[in-house]
Formats: sequence, structure tokens, C-alpha cells
Amino acid sequence: MKDIPPAEPILLTPGPLTTSRAVRAAMLRDWGSWDDDFRAMTRQLRADLVALLGAGREDYDCVPMQGSGSYLVEAMLGTFVPWHGKVLVLANGAYGQRAAQTLDVLGLPFTLMDKGDFLPPRGEDVAAALAADPEITHVLAIHCETSSGILNPLAEIATATQAAGRKLLIDSMSAFGAIPIDPAWLPFEALVSSANKCLEGVPGFGFVLARRTALAECAGNSPSLALDVHAQWVSFEQTGQWRFTPPTHVVAACVEALAGHAAEGGVEARGARYATNRDRLVAGMRQLGFETLLPEAWMSPIIVTFLSPADPAFDFARFYAAMKARGFLIYPGKLTVVESFRIGCIGQIDPEVMSRVVVAVEEALQELGVRSAAPSPEALAQRMPG
Ligand SMILES: *Cc1c(COP(=O)(O)O)cnc(C)c1O
Repeated sequence: MKDIPPAEPILLTPGPLTTSRAVRAAMLRDWGSWDDDFRAMTRQLRADLVALLGAGREDYDCVPMQGSGSYLVEAMLGTFVPWHGKVLVLANGAYGQRAAQTLDVLGLPFTLMDKGDFLPPRGEDVAAALAADPEITHVLAIHCETSSGILNPLAEIATATQAAGRKLLIDSMSAFGAIPIDPAWLPFEALVSSANKCLEGVPGFGFVLARRTALAECAGNSPSLALDVHAQWVSFEQTGQWRFTPPTHVVAACVEALAGHAAEGGVEARGARYATNRDRLVAGMRQLGFETLLPEAWMSPIIVTFLSPADPAFDFARFYAAMKARGFLIYPGKLTVVESFRIGCIGQIDPEVMSRVVVAVEEALQELGVRSAAPSPEALAQRMPG
């Protein structure tokens, strides 16, 4: 992690994030999209991504798709949910809300289970909701809800969904590649993720991992031409090509990023590094007087939400600028009730970087004249109990 030129800021954001020099260097060559070399690269990309699913991957295939993560969520919902289907959306933050909004725009029926800013949807909630409404065909779950940083209890959601005979769709945008998912113990119909989060590639495309039988069944479902996962899959299977102009450099960068992922030791090792980053960050921030929104048990190793200090001298815009001056780009909060900010733990950063982040935070508070990092009692009361 020593290859980032000191003049470039370190991105403490959930993607785009700080990438390796090798990943960026992989974009220094041009590729013909129709050429055999690029087709081979696409083939390798798809195989490498399926391989990350672990032992239960045999029945699954990978369909990359141009666009940011939201394009992939829209593509998955539009393609896998038939017009006569109905989706139970499990929301506890902005991305669950966006999935519901997507279904609304697509004109697909759904029920929203809204847990507010961070409370997790539990297996028993899902079982009860499915028992109450036999029309529900699919459950949409957010793996890591990046707006708070909570790691949702996906395994119990999958178990409840399967027990009720329904199908699980997963937004694993900010978790895939660092948190293990294996259909052998976590059955799902389809999941989506993107190149620029835990895989540590650059933005430009995402991918669907889906059961081959599900892919085969969803011909003609999509109300969209460009976001039709089935049509894209058929194109890959028949010609080895993307249907429309592929983000060639981004694909090359992702293949390089996947090599780095494997060299690091795969999903477990990447998740372990991120967890160590998070632990170093949280310990240092608590020593400065900060409080986290979530207790340890629910904290993902992806991104951490800190409650803003109650001290009137604290101002996020000035804090951001003071952190940027020290080489770190942090992230605003996305909660609706309490003031907060977020610091990401993913990308080409290690615990030593996190220690420097804590020093920078301490200096930034001094610069702003903030004497206590403690949040208000009202904000503390809103936080998730431990
Ligand atoms: C990043 C992210 C998305 C996609 O957001 P884009 O801005 O479209 O890339 C979707 N869901 C979750 C949980 C995310 O973290």
C-alpha cells in the first residue's frame, strides 16, 4: 500500500476508492472491443467473479453490465421480477429506499419494510411478512447498507426466504469481495455488485451473479433494452461480447484488481484487512471522544458512521476541508435523524493509514476549535443500543 504518490489524496469513501498503481497502470493500453484479446479478457472476468462465490458456485453465472451500481440494481429488478411478481423490499437506509424507488419507476408491485435509518431486518420479520402476503415472489435485501455501514443479517434473511419458497435478490454492492457469500449456505437467485468497491477496481461497470436457471427463465421480462440482463447474458454466451460499447479500460483494470484480490488471499483476507482498518480507526476515534452510530456486533468492515460532535465549533464542510488539506477525503453522513459523517475502510489502505487518519482528525478538530468530539445527548439517545 506504499505505491500511492503522496500528492494524491487517499479516498476514505466507499467507491470510487484508492486503487493500486497496478490497477491504474492496467488502463494505459487500448483494447478493441471486438478483438479476441478483449473477448478473452471478458471471459476471464466472468469466470474470476463466479469463482469468488465459493463452493456452491456451480449453478451460477456472471453477467457484467455497463454503468454504476444503481444501473445494476435496476437491471436486476427489471429482469428477474416478472410483471406478475411482487417484491418485499427490506430497507434500513438510502439504498433500500432507492431499490423501492426503482421498482416504483419500473411499475413493478412491491411492499416496503422500512426499518428506518439503521435497524436490521431480521429473519423473523421476513418470515412474518412472507407468511402475511402470498403474492410476494421475491425479497430484495441490501447486504451492507452503505448509508449507515450496517452489515445486514443476510444469512437469516436467505433462510427465511427459502423456507417460504420465495426468491432472494441481493444488493451486495459494497460487500461482495470482502464478505463471503456462498450459495451453498446462502441461497439466492441473483446478486449485484460493482467493480469499484471491495474489488478495488475503478468505476464503469457492475455485474450480476445469478443462477443459470433463473437467467434462462427471464427472457422478455425487462422493460429496458440496455438494462436487460438476459439479453446481455445471451450475447456473452453466443458471441463472447458485450452488447454495446464496453468500458474496455475499466474491464482491464478490474481483471488486474482481481489478480490483486487473489494475491492478497481472496475474500477472507480482504475482509480481514478491512476489519483491521476499521478496528484501528474506531479505537482511535473513540479515544478522541467520538461515538459510533452502531455497536460492534452490527458494524461492517466497509464504512463507519460517526456521530458529529455537539460542540458548536464543529462544521462538516470545514472539517472536510481540514481533512482534505491533510490528504484524506472523507464522506458526509446519510442519516435522516442525526448529524453524522462517514469514514470508509476499503481500498488500498492499511491500518498504518488509519492511524494517520486519526492523527489528521485530531489536528482538524484543533484547527476548527472543537474542544470535545462528544455528540449531543439527543444524538446518543438515537444511536443503536449495544
Ligand atoms: C454504491 C452502492 C450502490 C450503487 O450506487 P451508485 O452510486 O449507483 O454506484 C447501491 N447499493 C449500495 C448498497 C451501494 O453501496
